[in-house]
Amino acid sequence: MCLFCKIANHEQNADIVYENEEIIVFKDINPKSLVHLLIVPKKHINSVNELEDDDRDLISNMIFLAKKIAFEKGLDKKGYRLTFNVGRGGGQIVDHIHLHLMGGGKIDD
Ligand code: AMP
Ligand code: ZN
Repeated sequence: MCLFCKIANHEQNADIVYENEEIIVFKDINPKSLVHLLIVPKKHINSVNELEDDDRDLISNMIFLAKKIAFEKGLDKKGYRLTFNVGRGGGQIVDHIHLHLMGGGKIDD
């Protein structure tokens, strides 16, 4: 089972900020901005490359959840970034699809 599947199954610790039947949201362990959350479907999908027609609602729900959280965190006016990294060349390290929500100012590392 992959790392994010383990987190989704509560078999691996994470700082979970939201969860419903199909999606889990937790803090990125190595944040690049003051708010850096990962919006992760509980269903294992490797990346955007593997998305199928049946996943349309899921991806839509992930983006609308990101928007809701962004508003709750007061990022809507300041702006924020939503990112899907795809494949190694696209910066993807964890092969379980996830949407990065980043905002609130950069953290230098
Ligand atoms: P990506 O590079 O798009 O695959 O993003 C994977 C993200 O997962 C990186 O930003 C990592 O910092 C983050 N990450 C890796 N392991 C964990 C973990 N155990 N808990 C939370 N975030 C993690
Ligand atoms: Zn997985």
